[in-house]
Amino acid sequence: MEWFNKDYNDVVDELNSDIENGLNDKIYELNKEKYGTNELNQTKKKSWFIKFLEQFKDFMIIILLIAALISGIIGKIKGEGITDSIIILIVVIVNAIIGVAQENKAEKSLEALKKLSSYTAKTIRNGELIILPSSDLVPGDIVIFETGDYVPADIRIIEANNLKANESALTGESTPVEKDNAKIESTDVGIADRINMLFSSSLITYGRGKGIVVETGMKTEVGKIAEILENTEKEATPLQKKLNSLGKWLGIASIIICAIIFFMGLIYKMEPIDMFMTAVSLAVAVIPEGLVAVSTIVLAIGVQRMVKKNAIIKKLPAVESLGSSTVICSDKTGTLTQNKMTVQQVFFDKSLEKIESLEEKYYSESKEVDVESNLNRLVHISMLCNDIKIDTNNNLSGDPTEAALIDMGFKLNFNSAFFSQYPRVEEIPFDSDRKLMTTVHKSGKKYLVYTKGGVDEILKRCNSYIVLNEIKTDLNMYSKEILKNNELMANSALRVLAMAYKEMDHLPSKNELEKLESDLIFVGMVGMIDPPRKEAREAVLKCKKAGIKTVMITGDHKITAVAIAKELGILEDEKDALTGIELEKMSDDELYNVVERIRVYARVSPEHKVRIVNAFKKHNEVVAMTGDGVNDAPALKSADIGCAMGMVGTDVAKEAADVILTDDNFATLVTAVEEGRRIYDNILKAIQFLLSSNIGEVIIILLTMLLAPLLSKKFGIELTMIEALLPIHILWINLVTDSLPALALATDPANKDIMERKPVKHNKTFSKGMFWRIMYQGITIGLVTFAAFIIGLATNELPVIEGLSEAEVRLEIAKTMTFVVLAFSELIHVFNIRNNKESIFKTGIGGNSKLFLAIFVSAMLMVVVLVIPVLRELFRIPLLPTQNIIEMVVLIFIPMVVVEIFKLFKINTINGE
Ligand code: ATP
Repeated sequence: MEWFNKDYNDVVDELNSDIENGLNDKIYELNKEKYGTNELNQTKKKSWFIKFLEQFKDFMIIILLIAALISGIIGKIKGEGITDSIIILIVVIVNAIIGVAQENKAEKSLEALKKLSSYTAKTIRNGELIILPSSDLVPGDIVIFETGDYVPADIRIIEANNLKANESALTGESTPVEKDNAKIESTDVGIADRINMLFSSSLITYGRGKGIVVETGMKTEVGKIAEILENTEKEATPLQKKLNSLGKWLGIASIIICAIIFFMGLIYKMEPIDMFMTAVSLAVAVIPEGLVAVSTIVLAIGVQRMVKKNAIIKKLPAVESLGSSTVICSDKTGTLTQNKMTVQQVFFDKSLEKIESLEEKYYSESKEVDVESNLNRLVHISMLCNDIKIDTNNNLSGDPTEAALIDMGFKLNFNSAFFSQYPRVEEIPFDSDRKLMTTVHKSGKKYLVYTKGGVDEILKRCNSYIVLNEIKTDLNMYSKEILKNNELMANSALRVLAMAYKEMDHLPSKNELEKLESDLIFVGMVGMIDPPRKEAREAVLKCKKAGIKTVMITGDHKITAVAIAKELGILEDEKDALTGIELEKMSDDELYNVVERIRVYARVSPEHKVRIVNAFKKHNEVVAMTGDGVNDAPALKSADIGCAMGMVGTDVAKEAADVILTDDNFATLVTAVEEGRRIYDNILKAIQFLLSSNIGEVIIILLTMLLAPLLSKKFGIELTMIEALLPIHILWINLVTDSLPALALATDPANKDIMERKPVKHNKTFSKGMFWRIMYQGITIGLVTFAAFIIGLATNELPVIEGLSEAEVRLEIAKTMTFVVLAFSELIHVFNIRNNKESIFKTGIGGNSKLFLAIFVSAMLMVVVLVIPVLRELFRIPLLPTQNIIEMVVLIFIPMVVVEIFKLFKINTINGE
């Protein structure tokens, strides 16, 4: 017999559970041991060793290793030794270790993120309702679910209230299936027809219920087909994709450069194998293999920082879109406001009353509200047509709007004791499209239909009203009074809910549910305040300065929305507010024409959000959109950055989103935008650093090659011997000393003006300014190192080195100077990169201790090579005369002086970029 063939009571017994109290700790532990955790098997993680080997997959590295091998063999045959090959091997290994460490770091932080955004389940254990990570569930656990929840395991339903689930992940059927708790007799029933079961990874689209976990992990239906769902694909960000293609172009360029150098070498009759080594190491230097890796680590570190600031990034490309966003469409309630609702005024029997004065009258004087009065009715509807959970200490949990209503009841001396007198027998849950909620309660032989919701929605469904215990039908007349008072409350930024009721003599059947919310009797209204978040106003202002539009989208009444939007500085002119009804009447073209102006959308349904996003996108805006409900998912998906609320958001919204704001706060989203800009800036900094350094290296090698005949004549050195850098020098700098500072740029703090400049559209890989800087700074480094080479060649007092001719000593000194000046000027060049506009004397060099550490370690690695005899031997470093050392120190700082001058005359940037 399958689970669905059994009565739910039998299932509960069989799994040693209890419908009311759930599992106790003892049985939970036993079951956990027996069934394991509720997780699908992950694809096996790669071991360190495999990751290490993968670092050698790169085409250029393979060529380099082959070249090293060949040169080693030839060296051996000729009896010249194999030190070069060994050094290359060491450099490549060190580089691979740095690579694996980077990869691990990036992977770890992304994994941690995944954990943060994984789902939770509302479970009853030891008689208490607790929220657990879904992975903690075991068979026998009793779980509660409601609209918007993901089903955490396979569940046999115990209770179902209008329950519907979308099981498309399993069955492919996208229309939600109605669910029930009755046992199914037939054993031959497909998944789609097992209506008393809920299956892991499907989602609740309507209603609520309770059930018992029967299968977990790989035993669930989805676990059985888990392989097809395992999606380990890593998404590259747009910039990373561009960097990949840039890498290819540079690869082609480097092959051309290598060919030139190789053939020039042949013309000069140099040893082909030596030339081959130089060409390959140059290619390794030019192709920025590090770029994508550095961008990954910058993103990963940035994303980790965002978590600390309450924004969980679910999809990496969102970081870039965040940084370039031009419009933020934000929900009002809870995001721009505190979502701490308190009832301030109530309207009944034709009069508007302050809750404080009523409180004084009833609570302070321990008076009871007259059972037959309208106020009593208003409070009854407010408290009974309500999903708030109240614990024994009168603590409330649930929707703040509803909590405010319960609180109002308490203030008027009502207590929750009367709840049991009017048991709920039917309900139509609240949803933000209808803006209504209805419950049916049994009262003796009668059935009371209680409805609450937006004033306009309630009025539409009423045909009479009650005043001073008398039901009247001239609602049209009374409506004016209602609307006037509604406006009065809304003008003071209050959210207004209306309450209505009717009586029935029988329990409405399923067919009657559709008409349940009609022919109602209007009772009264409640106005509640939800103060704006203090930090929201500041964040709106920040957006304004940063050229980002803030748009408020709310289900609330227009007047309420306008009042709050004005307070927050989002709206100046009421004309820039639009209602859902007005929006509905507009064609897409009409909306396109006004969308850039409108700042407040009121009384809209989640469906409207998609149209708003699309209209903005047609204007080429980059849109961030917040959302929390099930119906918000399409808008979250179509926005460039969908942001779900971490606290009040449904699982569905979180799944559809790119970013989760764990504190539901608008200001957090703005901080995330700022972080996004910083991360993008830092990736650009790393690119500018690495590429300008590479260009410098190409320049020095090309220049030396071109001018070799001249140099040979001038300094009396054989033409075939002339070269500025040894292959190992280039490799050491590119694969070891440059990579640490490039990584450390990831943690660079934001430039001061980061939120004072307009958003940058990232449609090109580089701006003109960036291209210009890479070129001129690279050329500067190239020229400075070339100068070091010449100065080295021209050394006056040459030391005597055993076994070397004077010309050879001259060349060794020159090469060493080139190597040292190149390495150190690049390390100093890092400081040029950190701010493209401001002088280093203004910004200072502090603010990033990791960068200092990276530069220090890189410098130390250089010093080690320069002073340890064995390494000096390997890198062919002679002891330099003091004069040369002084000259090198001067040369090292020249690129910085040049860049400072360019900054001073504002030619470091083009059009401010
Ligand atoms: P946003 O976060 O977009 O500002 P919102 O909270 O304003 O959303 P909804 O929660 O969809 O939007 O509420 C829309 C309207 O529905 C409210 O203005 C109110 O009139 C009504 N409403 C809200 N909550 C309830 C509820 N629990 N029961 C009945 N009606 C409600």
